[in-house]
Amino acid sequence: MKRAMIDPVKCANCPTCLVEEKCQENAVIREEVIDKPWIDFYHCRGCMKCKTVCEHNAVIEEIKPCDGKFAAGW
Ligand code: SF4
Ligand code: SF4
Repeated sequence: MKRAMIDPVKCANCPTCLVEEKCQENAVIREEVIDKPWIDFYHCRGCMKCKTVCEHNAVIEEIKPCDGKFAAGW
């Protein structure tokens, strides 16, 4: 399964995260305004539409083995 991940080292913690704005699955989580965003693996569908919007190239592509928790269609 392909999923997006935000590299916390590369992430510049922008006041407005374009990755969060771009994601139509609401997979990007930022619990507090001072926190760096992260991507919820279970909501991300791996479309990678967010990858080009981060000017710090903080979005990376991860390939995860299926853990069997996903329903058909994932
Ligand atoms: S746009 Fe990129 S660098 Fe900025 S907060 Fe989002 S992931 Fe981090
Ligand atoms: S890969 Fe797609 S679903 Fe996942 S965080 Fe990026 S825009 Fe959202």
